[in-house]
Amino acid sequence: MDSIWMENIKLPEFPELKSDKKTDILIIGGGITGILCAHFLKERGAGYMLAEGRTICSGTTGNTTAKITAQHSLIYDKILKSRGVETAAMYLHANLSAVEKYAELCLGQEGGGSGPGIHCDFERKTSYVYSMGSLSKLEKEADALAKIGFYSELTDRSELPFPIAGALSFNNQAQFNPLKFLAAISKDLNIYEHTFIKEFIQNEKGENEAVTHKGRKIKFKKVIFAAHFPIDNKHGLYFLKLYQHRSYVIALENAPKIHGMYVDEDRKGMSFRSYKDMLLIGGGSHRTGKKGGDWQELRDFARRYYPDSREHAFWSTQDCMSLDGVPYIGPYSENMPGCYVASGYNKWGMTSSMIAAMVLSDMVTERENPYAAVFDPARSMWKPQLFINGFEAVKNLLTPTARRCPHMGCALKWNVTEHTWDCPCHGSRFDQRGTVLDNPASGNLKKPPQK
Ligand SMILES: Cc1cc2nc3c(=O)[nH]c(=O)nc-3n(C[C@H](O)[C@H](O)[C@H](O)COP(=O)(O)OP(=O)(O)OC[C@H]3O[C@@H](n4cnc5c(N)ncnc54)[C@H](O)[C@@H]3O)c2cc1C
Repeated sequence: MDSIWMENIKLPEFPELKSDKKTDILIIGGGITGILCAHFLKERGAGYMLAEGRTICSGTTGNTTAKITAQHSLIYDKILKSRGVETAAMYLHANLSAVEKYAELCLGQEGGGSGPGIHCDFERKTSYVYSMGSLSKLEKEADALAKIGFYSELTDRSELPFPIAGALSFNNQAQFNPLKFLAAISKDLNIYEHTFIKEFIQNEKGENEAVTHKGRKIKFKKVIFAAHFPIDNKHGLYFLKLYQHRSYVIALENAPKIHGMYVDEDRKGMSFRSYKDMLLIGGGSHRTGKKGGDWQELRDFARRYYPDSREHAFWSTQDCMSLDGVPYIGPYSENMPGCYVASGYNKWGMTSSMIAAMVLSDMVTERENPYAAVFDPARSMWKPQLFINGFEAVKNLLTPTARRCPHMGCALKWNVTEHTWDCPCHGSRFDQRGTVLDNPASGNLKKPPQK
């Protein structure tokens, strides 16, 4: 069940924290967000250390499909209507500048950067959002983009093997192998692996300390929560502002190569990109803890449309979804000075993590960032998804069962496909023996539940 990125890759290894430490900036989580934050802080000469509970890239990052694009399905019309032209334009520019930052890092001088570049199969690509139903949503998105000064082309042609109503394209986006990129960029960073942050305390001098699962203490001035789901429940209401959505991926050999990167505007639809001689198809998605199409949907599709193909690999993962489709990047809560967060990437974490690293490395080093207001986690929560999240929480808290999630006590659901216990409220997951697989739960189940 490993992703193709894990094949033939030697990620750098880092020591476990074995003694108490002191740092200016503590980064929690060694996925793409934490690693990019560490990279920028190192470049600035800031004092930092990164604590990763398992090994780097062992979370969602190791299982992504790694399309680097500012086209996040249909988002611009939505932002324009809810927050105005200026915010929609800032969202676009933040994401386009993230794409260019990857080009600089990956291509070196050829991509406008100054370094030597990174061999990570970075390729410029056109991204497309397609619709199988009607053109109207795509036309509205194209209009919204035109209002913020961005040209996107509407076409009825595609490389996909089924008829579409149309597709909206963004030129000059990109794709890469995320683990080749992160292996290169992380190798000289100050990282501790197998160092799981369990709690936060104030010592007798009133200084902040993070405590690891083995009781080591890390004294810090500022902290960046890059642990995928924010791990402090007491502030920021992230348990209401986020839920998790799971998706499945298969990699096919002997399927026709496609040149673009495609995603269905319907969240239940599929996504496509190629990597070398493989075609990656994503889909089967559902809220974690609920039922969905999983790999079966993808395999049925492959059998129908690519009958000569062979399945090379299959995997799955999940991402945090915000209430309004825009990530939460910035101060954790007004009650937690010096604490910052990056989460809620809505399955668009390649550019979002780059933005998070640019914004948060500015914030922790006391610099202004032009995009900060767009992603401010303190923005209004009054969105329909808030009520859905609240309803799910109440329903699952009241469900009578002994199988409960240690995070907030919701009833766990058995995932027949993956043989795991999943929480529909916030997306924590556990294997059959009760070992935690995905946060926000921070520990194992006391005893393995019976089916
Ligand atoms: C199927 C799928 C396909 C996707 N494809 C794309 C795509 O094509 N393009 C795109 O832009 N985005 C995509 N995404 C989204 C993207 O992959 C994610 O948003 C991104 O990888 C999240 O990175 P992260 O660093 O925030 O989290 P993670 O990679 O999950 O990293 C968090 C890390 O924190 C560690 N951690 C957790 N708790 C603690 C703790 N208490 N102490 C220490 N460490 C801790 C974990 O072990 C983990 O390593 C996709 C998502 C899915 C689900």
